Parts: sequence; structure tokens; C-alpha cells
Amino acid sequence: MATGGRRSTKFALDAMLGSLARKLRAFGFDSAYYKDATDSAILSSCARQGRVLVTADRELAARAGKRGLSALLVSGQSDRARLLQMIAASRETGLRLTRGEPRCSVCDGRLVGLAAVEARKKVPESVAGRHRLFYSCSNCGRVYWRGGHWKKLRSLEALFKRQP
Ligand SMILES: [Zn+2]
Repeated sequence: MATGGRRSTKFALDAMLGSLARKLRAFGFDSAYYKDATDSAILSSCARQGRVLVTADRELAARAGKRGLSALLVSGQSDRARLLQMIAASRETGLRLTRGEPRCSVCDGRLVGLAAVEARKKVPESVAGRHRLFYSCSNCGRVYWRGGHWKKLRSLEALFKRQP
């Protein structure tokens, strides 16, 4: 996969936003998900790693703002609504959303191309027969292919492509 100089926007998501974190990773945003961390720990990570906080917690977003950290407040019921809020909020604040290569939705690791012959040892036969392109996570080893789930994600990913 291409590894250009272009750095993707990095996000940090709090415990309520696990499914949104998985989608953002698939879209190519380096996204840390903090399931059990305290608010202070999340804010420290944002400061240290240059991550933009994504949260539904108004108070936490305000704390981030006081520390000079970027934060996007989302309140929607669906990930689609949350993504639209993120895009709108980033436009308002002048934050540029830069996507990189798709990442592992489970662990945020980098995906690398996987030879079909190797992939066939690791995926169900029905999948191996129907797909040519495979990727594996350089961190956890999970194998990905462009199946039905990927197609569903594409309709959400398109929201970012409409950005100017
Ligand atoms: Zn992984």
C-alpha cells in the first residue's frame, strides 16, 4: 500500500463511540478508542499524540477546548448522523479531515496487501473463491477483503468524498 508523506487526521474516541471508531479506521483515519480510560487520560493522549477528540460528552469536549485541544462534539443516534456532524463541525472550526489508507477496524493497525495464496489459508472457502484482493493487519493479523460489509461502508465513506 502507498505510504505517502500525507498524514491522516488522528482521532480519539471515548467509550460511547466504539462503532464509530471502527468505521473511521476503515475510512483511513488513525483512530484510538478509549473504552475504560478516564477523561484526563483521554485528554492527555490527545495532547501527546495530536489526536482530535470525538465525543458525545459536552463537558469533555469543553475540557478539551480549555486545554487548547481540537474536539468534535457529536450527538446523533446513528453513526451516519455522527459522521455528518463531524464533517459539519470540522468545517466550522477549519479542521481539515485528511484520510489515509484504510486501517484495521478492530485494532487500528496498518493494513498490508496479502497474497491470494496466503489469504486462501486464512479465509473461508466461499470467500477465497470470490475475491482476489486481500489485506491483513500488520498488528493483529486479521484478514480483510472487499465483501458485503465493505460495500456498506462505502456509502458512508462517500460522505467524506463530498468534502471540498
Ligand atoms: Zn488489527
